[in-house]
Amino acid sequence: MVGVEVVTVTDRLRNGYDVVVVGGGAAGLSGALMLARARRSVLVVDAGAPRNAPATGVHGLLGHDGIRPAELLERGRAEVRGYGGQVVAGGVTTAARDPEGDSEEFTVNLADGRSVRARRLLVTTGLVDQLPDVPGLRARWGRDVLHCPYCHGWEVRDQAIGVLATGPRAVHQALLFRQWSAEVTFLSHTMAPPAGEEAAQLAARGIGVVGGEVASLEVVEDRLVGVRLADGTTVGLQALAVSPRMVARAGLLAALGLRPAEHPSGLGAHIPADATGRTEVPGVWVAGNVTDLAAQVGAAAAGGAAAAAQINADLVTEDTRRAVALVRAGW
Ligand SMILES: Cc1cc2nc3c(=O)[nH]c(=O)nc-3n(C[C@H](O)[C@H](O)[C@H](O)COP(=O)(O)OP(=O)(O)OC[C@H]3O[C@@H](n4cnc5c(N)ncnc54)[C@H](O)[C@@H]3O)c2cc1C
Repeated sequence: MVGVEVVTVTDRLRNGYDVVVVGGGAAGLSGALMLARARRSVLVVDAGAPRNAPATGVHGLLGHDGIRPAELLERGRAEVRGYGGQVVAGGVTTAARDPEGDSEEFTVNLADGRSVRARRLLVTTGLVDQLPDVPGLRARWGRDVLHCPYCHGWEVRDQAIGVLATGPRAVHQALLFRQWSAEVTFLSHTMAPPAGEEAAQLAARGIGVVGGEVASLEVVEDRLVGVRLADGTTVGLQALAVSPRMVARAGLLAALGLRPAEHPSGLGAHIPADATGRTEVPGVWVAGNVTDLAAQVGAAAAGGAAAAAQINADLVTEDTRRAVALVRAGW
């Protein structure tokens, strides 16, 4: 299967590939680029819903700060195709060890009914942000409802920022956003108001605390202007910070025995892997948010590239072992 294929008809699939990459976000495309440049036959199957799709720009990415998320990925797809990698739109439903072939191979099933074989899998399917269940909140996600100060903090600097408390890290998040604005309000929402040292920290940084459950968001002319509490009072805001629970999107790996596990940080559930992205299932690597919940675009791309190099090395080892066996057999 080794070789470079220049694909112009992107949807015609081969029977088998050295590597099938599931997910064509920053991690998957970065891995595919490395593999295609390593002269591996590589297929990327991508459902086309990257996590940062609602955002207007990718921030903090050296050399590309502010680039539209869709444009970054379009460039990535072009780069992968430029080296003979194949990128197709679609969803992978399951992946399983190939019962007919070498035990190291997999059958990858697509939602449209097609299937392909792969010697190795790189799974970069990202995660699902489980947002707090407040009416109107989901529609503002990635616009003025935010989670990550490194992604959006600069854009909301000096604005009135509310922090919606839904977990134990809410005080930390409020203290972080205080770095970008002096007008931060801690909304206790469904949590008990902070006490003791945490209350002292918020007070010392000038962060006001508002008790009571947030019932809805106030939006005027497509801009957040505040939140309404259950008792009817309103709090004026320009941005609302939330902490979604982050859960790896990994249903397709269940048949291989890989299921999301609680991340030690308490941020959500991920697919565990070693530092190179190698999972406990031989031949399956993961990269990006599916394993590293905190990875931003740069870290996700780096994870994909690092995993790709390991996969290529693993294939080199296998190719060499097979070649030696053939020589010894007199071929
Ligand atoms: C609102 C918001 C704004 C952000 N802003 C920034 C920012 O400014 N800067 C920054 O560095 N980071 C930002 N991030 C973080 C950024 O989104 C992630 O770091 C990045 O998307 C992780 O890349 P990934 O490749 O791991 O996953 P993703 O980008 O989520 O890509 C995963 C891909 O896999 C596909 N997929 C999933 N399941 C399947 C399947 N079964 N079959 C085929 N394809 C599948 C998905 O459709 C998707 O295209 C932001 C995040 C959010 C939520």
